[in-house]
Amino acid sequence: MMALVFTAPGELEMRDVPDPEPADGEVLVHVRAAGICGSELHGARHPGFRVPPLIMGHEFAGLSDNGDRVLINPILSCGHCSLCGRGLRYLCADRALIGVHRPGGFAERVAVPAGAARPLPDWLSWSEAAVVEPAANAVHAWNLARGGPGHRVAVLGCGAIGLLCLLTALAGGADQVEVTDLSPVRLAAARRLGAAAAGTTLTGEYDVVIDAVGSAVTRALSVQHQRPGGVAVWLGLAEQAAGFDAPALVRGEKSVLGSFGYTDDEFDGATALLRDANLSWVVPYPLAAGAQIFTELMNGRLDPVKALLSPEPGRA
Ligand SMILES: [Zn+2]
Ligand SMILES: [Zn+2]
Repeated sequence: MMALVFTAPGELEMRDVPDPEPADGEVLVHVRAAGICGSELHGARHPGFRVPPLIMGHEFAGLSDNGDRVLINPILSCGHCSLCGRGLRYLCADRALIGVHRPGGFAERVAVPAGAARPLPDWLSWSEAAVVEPAANAVHAWNLARGGPGHRVAVLGCGAIGLLCLLTALAGGADQVEVTDLSPVRLAAARRLGAAAAGTTLTGEYDVVIDAVGSAVTRALSVQHQRPGGVAVWLGLAEQAAGFDAPALVRGEKSVLGSFGYTDDEFDGATALLRDANLSWVVPYPLAAGAQIFTELMNGRLDPVKALLSPEPGRA
């Protein structure tokens, strides 16, 4: 079968690879759409978490071997530790991700543990289904922040995660959501989704600040623009440096929370967020051109907010 293989730092190739053979308790999924994540564009250049050779892809949906439309929850866990027992399996010490620690969705077919294949509501297209995983990350961040009606919210970064955080906050009753990014294309997408303000900087103070970039600059902004007693949630991982003003955090009783992953309920419930959402910023491309598309995204020569790979992009 055809697969996009991460072969070495900064290098990806389309390869003909053996078909996956599902083990006991696994199902074969014929992939219909798989999202390319910012973490993969970064990870392909800085291997460590992702080790080549690897078929990446953790945001995907497809048809199971018996014809069911399925959505893949890529988080695998041990299932018997205390965190797994408390519904926090995304924090399991033995956590592994499909598309990181085992082959993922940038291929015609992939074998996954049966429990990872969730039913896909028939009102979601394949393209929309591929956005459920990042949407689950946004829902989780909002829940961690205890975001709710009337809150003033800022979202730093309008990539897919940032836009989905905007959607989540609006769906959660936020009073007004302001966003920042450097890309006019991304800011325009945010305005179409209902951002009250979309520009390159923040001006006010917010109850909740969501950092969907993860640079030293955005981390500093997330503390600076948080009202006293507010909360910042960090999802971005662009840079190592923390960057924020620690004394200001203490004096203003501010908070910073890390967010990574989602509960099973948040994953399954994230489908609702995408119902009737404007996803014109999600663009499917042919899997056969995957190496070229991935490389152009990595080098900044192609800039859809969210690119998907699909064997039949016209039907995704
Ligand atoms: Zn992702
Ligand atoms: Zn566990």
